[in-house]
Amino acid sequence: MPRPIKPKLVKETPKATLYKPRGIPAAQLEETLLRIEELEALRLVDLEGMYQEDAAQSMGISRQTLQRMVTEARSKLVEALYAGKALRIEGGTYILQEGSGKYRCGRCGQPVSGYGRRRRGWRCPTCD
Ligand SMILES: [Zn+2]
Repeated sequence: MPRPIKPKLVKETPKATLYKPRGIPAAQLEETLLRIEELEALRLVDLEGMYQEDAAQSMGISRQTLQRMVTEARSKLVEALYAGKALRIEGGTYILQEGSGKYRCGRCGQPVSGYGRRRRGWRCPTCD
């Protein structure tokens, strides 16, 4: 059994998940895939202006992991913009934290209970 991937905590999901350059048919476009948790890392650091330490804490990950995600996400964004690729935002391994303090699996949307106690190696009982 593979070691479970530690899910990232995400508080906001994007309003739109696909961007494409104007005037190029979709079939001719290359796509860049940005994962939901990568966008969350960028949102916290670049939009909310959080320190990486605080953003990492918000997502329940180490600062090193957050820094790696921010670097990769920025690189993907710039590559998509520069090379005229479509940008798709989806997927990843994350848990959605709702305002009410409830958690949902980022893949299947099923409620997650006891997340705070079982952060390490959590797997979704429904879709994993
Ligand atoms: Zn699930």
